[in-house]
Amino acid sequence: MATTSSAATPCGCSGAARAGPRLKKAYIALGSNVGDRVAMIEQACREMDSRGIHVLRTSGLWETAPMYVLEQEKFVNGACEVETELEPLALLDALQDIEKALGRVKLIDKGPRSIDLDILMYDNQKVDNERLQVPHVGIPEREFVLRPLAELIPGEPIDPARPWKLAQDYLNELPPSPEPLTPLTPLSPYLAPIAALDGKRKTHIMGILNITPDSFSDGGITTPENLVERLLHFAQSGATMIDVGGQSTSPGTPEATLEEELGRVIPVIKLARKLPQTARMTLSVDTYRAAVAEAAVAAGADIVNDVSAGQLDPAMLPLVAHLGKTVCLMHMRGDPRTMASLTDYPEGLIPTIATDLLARVAEAEAAGIRRWRIVLDPGIGFAKTGDQNLEILRELDTLRRWPGLEGIPWLVGSSRKGFVGAVTGVKTPGERVWGTAATVTAAVQGGADIVRVHDVDEMGLVAKMSDAIWRV
Ligand code: ADP
Ligand code: MG
Repeated sequence: MATTSSAATPCGCSGAARAGPRLKKAYIALGSNVGDRVAMIEQACREMDSRGIHVLRTSGLWETAPMYVLEQEKFVNGACEVETELEPLALLDALQDIEKALGRVKLIDKGPRSIDLDILMYDNQKVDNERLQVPHVGIPEREFVLRPLAELIPGEPIDPARPWKLAQDYLNELPPSPEPLTPLTPLSPYLAPIAALDGKRKTHIMGILNITPDSFSDGGITTPENLVERLLHFAQSGATMIDVGGQSTSPGTPEATLEEELGRVIPVIKLARKLPQTARMTLSVDTYRAAVAEAAVAAGADIVNDVSAGQLDPAMLPLVAHLGKTVCLMHMRGDPRTMASLTDYPEGLIPTIATDLLARVAEAEAAGIRRWRIVLDPGIGFAKTGDQNLEILRELDTLRRWPGLEGIPWLVGSSRKGFVGAVTGVKTPGERVWGTAATVTAAVQGGADIVRVHDVDEMGLVAKMSDAIWRV
């Protein structure tokens, strides 16, 4: 028999007075070190959802060296907050059932596993039974559990018997790990995930492919030959990603219709997927319309890059959650037509961007997007003055380290923007390359993971040089 007790409800009968079983909150550890580790964990989350173990929020996915049995592959570990009617032992049964369904075979204790789902905490209760101990006995010694818990519940205790002790307190008691842990953010099947806290990571170059008749800085790609040429150029340049957009966001440009946007973007994504030189590049679709994102992913896009972070189309975040793709959430206010006048930040620019993005991340997670599928963008040029754009570049590191945003990768898009022209005093967007180079250098110094640029050759060299200086 399970002996359970609850700190909050000592008799364990708080739900009895109400109709039906009460939903309990629990924390589940997610681990995998065989096969496509992230895919395994994502599938486990879907399986939990479909069995009445509703995944509310997730931590990042941390890559960790094996503990206990050392001769095995690195693990990916995370944790999630769930809500369920299942009692502790029924929850354990369900989790073990999912492990079996996902093909877990136990060969050696603490050895390789496609998926491991453990109950870390359950409704502030203590469970002590031959099959189940809650809180999980391994928590205090496992950095790979404590880091995810510190992200999920930074202010809540782990053990009801020690209500003053937080995940960070346990972490402070551990010896420093030989290699610092980093969360992973998968981008596409063609690229290694971004390890945003790895000081040696390389900056990705994302080439901008605007398919608009009036694109403000890279001009009309009007003929199919032009387009192929540009795609091949991206492939040769060493850029790893291409961002395809069919909607100009510069102020004063009328909104394209859905049909126009689809007509511009979808054939290009299909073409990029078909051309042998670009077929294995990571493709992103730059859109704030869910219908465009959906068609683009069907055509082969890997990433949804939404300048409104889901705010201009209520269907966007649920769609991205359903697609299971990585999303880039950008900071903006208003919409591309109103943003130019929305540049008052009485609480301070950086704190406001951080607070707004924390809200966007929370909305994305509430829609079912996993935390490890989120990339952030400070939104240079969107509801920002020239000085504010410069401040973002100067303070990027502060944003990166903002509590609640740590470990999430950043995309920075400063290329050829108006403030570069204003500072350098050049006349045309094409002359903004040198100024852009300085912004890319600053972005890398500030910790950018991806720089979105027009001049892929030049900025590829700038990023390489900047990486050599700072990413060592
Ligand atoms: P690991 O210890 O690496 O998670 P297993 O997943 O094979 O290895 O678990 C071993 C056993 O641990 C399970 O059969 C289960 O009964 C027991 N167990 C005890 N406490 C827990 C818990 N909190 N969560 C999950 N399993 C637990
Ligand atoms: Mg287990």
